[in-house]
Amino acid sequence: MKILVINAGSSSLKYQLIDMDDESVKAKGLVERIGIEGTHFKQTVPGTDKVIEFTRNMAAHTEAIAAVLDALIDKDNGAIASLDEIGACGHRVLHGGETFSASALITDETMKEIEALIPLGPLHQRPNIAGIRACQEVMPTKPNVAVFDTSFHQTMPPKAFLYGVPYEYYTDLKVRRYGFHGTSHRFIAGEAPKLLGMDPKHCKLIICHLGNGSSLSAIVDGKVVDTSMGLTPLEGVLMGTRSGDVDPAVLEYIMDNTGMDIHQMLNTLNKKSGFAGMSCSSDMRDVKAAAEQGDKQAQNALDVWCYRLQKYIGAYNVAVGGADAIVFTAGIGENDTDSCAKVIEGLAFMGVKVDPQKNKRGVAAVISTDDSTIKVLRIPTNEELLIARDTLEIVSKL
Ligand code: AMP
Repeated sequence: MKILVINAGSSSLKYQLIDMDDESVKAKGLVERIGIEGTHFKQTVPGTDKVIEFTRNMAAHTEAIAAVLDALIDKDNGAIASLDEIGACGHRVLHGGETFSASALITDETMKEIEALIPLGPLHQRPNIAGIRACQEVMPTKPNVAVFDTSFHQTMPPKAFLYGVPYEYYTDLKVRRYGFHGTSHRFIAGEAPKLLGMDPKHCKLIICHLGNGSSLSAIVDGKVVDTSMGLTPLEGVLMGTRSGDVDPAVLEYIMDNTGMDIHQMLNTLNKKSGFAGMSCSSDMRDVKAAAEQGDKQAQNALDVWCYRLQKYIGAYNVAVGGADAIVFTAGIGENDTDSCAKVIEGLAFMGVKVDPQKNKRGVAAVISTDDSTIKVLRIPTNEELLIARDTLEIVSKL
């Protein structure tokens, strides 16, 4: 069966068509500027030179999905002969709240529950829902499955997920830490024990998903015991455009002194902070290049990034009770061997060491020395594949 994996953002839609017989990617694409003048469409077919690329205004996600289906079955540059080959659609959904601790088949009931969670993450949840609705409209006979960014973290105990605020904010408003990037953390939690030759049910991991958005998770025997993002993806380590942890009183002070309202303030913390706010760019490569040219602000940003990661890893070593492995993944974690090695340098007193030769190995590798007290791994994440696997598992039972 082939599964169409959809990741719908507010004005974008990323997709992959995955053949579950061998888990190969048959086509992948990106539609940008949906609902904005000059919608851009691009699809590639891996292993071939087939490309479909054009600019044509698309007012809504329904139009984008229709364009995706046309491109998939395009006679010259498509990937499949007929839409009948698509068995189901799997959707990345931001928030499952406390309602969803696993992926779910879309029914009228689950759709209502997903809609009820809009207030917890309106910027992402609404377009995610639009993506599901678009597939239902354009392919009414195909089943849809929602795979939540939060659900893997639902195993966190109250001591990890409760904030130190009046308890009724949790009971009445569901204010708590949820965590995100769950599909990536779950994928890596499945892959790391294989690389270590360990039983996943007896394995303690610290997973560092370091991309434009970044989060860490502490995993004991396959279950999350803590993670760095909170009610929203703003909490935690320093990211491309997000501040990570800040003293909440900073907000009042800045707002009083600048006249910003709370929405502008949060927009600044989400979109104009982190690397982007502290230095010249949200992109790690630019920040490193600037630091190498002697840019002090860029160097400061790199130092903050590294130091905060070291502190989180130290804390999560406590959370798991002594980790078997630290795993790096996502854009920075998979590619930036120097920066990850620098993070580990700060843990040398614990006997953790990266082997410079092994660090040059490609992805999916153990990069620590033989005598390192905690193994260090680099593993490529694959959120789309996990969404496709969940979708297959759920629709196979129908
Ligand atoms: P992601 O959100 O997972 O796509 O990751 C994006 C981040 O990965 C950006 O900050 C990129 O600068 C960073 N990145 C990707 N490739 C490299 C590389 N070769 N060296 C350093 N950073 C990289």
